[in-house]
Amino acid sequence: MPLRRLESLLVILQEAKNYFKEKFNAPPTFAVCTRGKKGRLLGEQEHSDGFVFPMALELVTVIVGRKSDGNVCRLATCAQGVDEPHVITFPVHTPDSPLVPGKPSWANYVKGVIANFPGPIPAFDAVIATSVPLGGGLSSSASLEVATYTFLEQLTGKEQKDLKVKALACQKAEHNFANMPCGIMDQFISVMGKRGNALLLDCRSMEATLVPMTNPDLAVLVTNSNVRHELTGSEYPTRRKQCETAAKTLGKPSLREVTMAELEANKGKLEDVEFCRARHVVGEIQRTTEAAAALEKESYEKFGKLMVESHNSLRDDYEVSCEELDLLVKLALEVDGVYGSRMTGGGFGGCTVTLVKRSSVDNLIKHIQEGYGNKATCVVTSPADGARVLSL
Ligand code: ADP
Repeated sequence: MPLRRLESLLVILQEAKNYFKEKFNAPPTFAVCTRGKKGRLLGEQEHSDGFVFPMALELVTVIVGRKSDGNVCRLATCAQGVDEPHVITFPVHTPDSPLVPGKPSWANYVKGVIANFPGPIPAFDAVIATSVPLGGGLSSSASLEVATYTFLEQLTGKEQKDLKVKALACQKAEHNFANMPCGIMDQFISVMGKRGNALLLDCRSMEATLVPMTNPDLAVLVTNSNVRHELTGSEYPTRRKQCETAAKTLGKPSLREVTMAELEANKGKLEDVEFCRARHVVGEIQRTTEAAAALEKESYEKFGKLMVESHNSLRDDYEVSCEELDLLVKLALEVDGVYGSRMTGGGFGGCTVTLVKRSSVDNLIKHIQEGYGNKATCVVTSPADGARVLSL
C-alpha cells in the first residue's frame, strides 16, 4: 500500500518560493502556512448544535508573497487539477470597486477572504502551494482561506487577535464566494489548531477548547479508502431535515437540548428513520464530550471504545458509512495496540481515523494492506499547529 510520505513543510515552501521567482522575477518577502484539517476524532454533526472534535493534520498550505506597487494583485497557484489559468491578476479590493466571485473558481477562495478582511489591502504578488489533496475531504479550501487571511495580516500588519472572528470571516468567504454553505469546523481547526492538541468545538456557543494529546506513545493513522460512492446530493440535507423534524416534534430548538432518555420516551412520536437519526446525533453529542474528558485523562481505551461506538452509530443509525469504511475499521480493530477506529468526514467513502499505540503502527498498516488490498493510503500523523508565519 502506498504509505503517503508527508511532503515536509520545507519542500512545499521551496516549491512556492521557486514558482514565485519564476513568475514574478523577485524573491518573496514573507510566508505563512496553515495545516490541513481535521482528523475528526469524534463528533460529526455541526448541525443540531452539536460538538466536533478534530485535530489539525500535518498537511500544509503555504502562501509566499510581497507587497507591490500600483493597484493590481498577481496571484498564482502551484496546485494541479484546478481550473485554468493558474496565474491571475485582479484589481485591489476597494469599497468603490469590490471584488466579486468569477473565474477561475479556485481564486474565489482567496478573493472571498480579501473581501471579508477588515480594512484596506495594498497590491501584492503571491503564490500558493499545498500538500493537502484538493477536494479529498481534507479541507484544502478552508486551509487556503485561513492561509490567505494570515497572509493578509502580514501584508497589512494588522493581526486579528480574536481567532473566532478570523475563522468566521473565512467561513463567510466560502459561503459567499465559493457558494458552499459549509459549517465552521474546518476554519476553526485551521485557525486554532495547536501542535499536540485536539480541539473540542461547541457548535452552539462556538467555544473552542484545546485538549492535550502529547503522549509520544500514541499515534493517529488516517487511512484513505480511496473510494467515493456516487451521491444523489440529497443525503446530507435529508439527514439534517430529519434531525430538525425530530427536535421540533419533541418541542426543542435542536437535538442538543434532547437527552437520550427523552428521546427514548418519545420514540412513538417519531418516524423510525427520524428516531434513528436523532439517536445517532444525541448519542454522538454525549460521546464527544465524554471522549474529550477521556483524552484529557489519557484514558485511551475509553476513547477508543467511544470511537467504535461512534462508527457503529454512523453506520447503523445515521447510515453514512459504506462497505469499504466498515472493512477498514474492522481490520484496524483486529490489531493489537489499536484503541479505536472510525470513519471520519462526510462518509460514503473517504477516510477512517484510528487511535493506536505508536509501536503498533507498522503492524496496523501491514494488516490493512493485507486485508484491504493495495488500494488504501495511510498517513501517520500527530496534531499539528494551525495558521502561522514562517521565516523565509
Ligand atoms: P476540500 O476542501 O475537501 O479539499 P473542496 O471542493 O471544498 O474540497 O475545495 C477544493 C477546492 O479549493 C479546489 O477545487 C480549489 O478550487 C480550491 N483550492 C484548495 N487548495 C488550493 C490551492 N492550493 N490552490 C488553488 N486552489 C485551491
